[in-house]
Amino acid sequence: MHVSLHRGQRRGAQWVQSVCLVMLTVVFSSSIDSAGADQYQRLRAGMLDAIRADYQDTAVYIDKEKADPRVLAAMGQVPRHEFVAENLRDVAYENRPLPIGHGQTISQPYIVAVMTDLLSVQADDRVLEVGTGSGYQAAVLAELVSHMYSIEIIQPLATQAEKRLQGLGYKNVTIRHGDGYYGWEEQAPFDAIVVTAAAGHVPPPLIAQLKPGGRMVIPVGTRFLVQELLMVVKDNDGSVSTRQLLPVRFVPLTGGH
Ligand code: SAH
Repeated sequence: MHVSLHRGQRRGAQWVQSVCLVMLTVVFSSSIDSAGADQYQRLRAGMLDAIRADYQDTAVYIDKEKADPRVLAAMGQVPRHEFVAENLRDVAYENRPLPIGHGQTISQPYIVAVMTDLLSVQADDRVLEVGTGSGYQAAVLAELVSHMYSIEIIQPLATQAEKRLQGLGYKNVTIRHGDGYYGWEEQAPFDAIVVTAAAGHVPPPLIAQLKPGGRMVIPVGTRFLVQELLMVVKDNDGSVSTRQLLPVRFVPLTGGH
């Protein structure tokens, strides 16, 4: 059957055609977007598997075979690829540290999980991080607590992390440029403190800024000797106990102390 279209009908058909084309383009490009998001989601799931496996392997050190599911859920939320340079995005979810410039690194996912886990944070805790770096550890903790405070000694890293976290919508992180050895007096005391650079000793100002019942996780040692991850607990009566957990390797805590 031959159907001839009048001019109006023909224009109508063209209009339908171009609408279809626009719709196709929308469907096509949104499927590219979701393929990208899916890809990172898949890589994030792989990262969580690697963390679970490392937990099994290191259970004797940290006395735990499984990570707190809340910690894994938090790490499943944070887009780690946004915390590294564009050329490292593809490897952002591998279970290893990566360079973030200025001679510093974003910690290995397993280490981030362990440190977060050991802090046993509650939703209304105030937490201090020393060594903001990329802001990744701060973002993971910000998923779990009401407010995160983080100090970074290298100004450009502090500024970049602040912008990055703002851009990603983390409103409950406050970053300051400064020497974290001395803690953050104005915001103290803290329920939990995490130090992400290796110190020669546990900084007394950080112990002072811990609430009774508070916990601190900190790598202690030198660049050339083995560093140990320590868990420092301040009891309700103010007495402090320290437990040695895991051999680790962190960049050094710098500053004038
Ligand atoms: N937590 C970071 C990893 C940081 S690497 C992340 O998730 O990406 C350790 C960081 O500690 C580095 O950025 C380093 O500049 C910083 N740092 C070293 N000494 C410091 C100090 N005294 N005070 C604050 N930050 C310090």
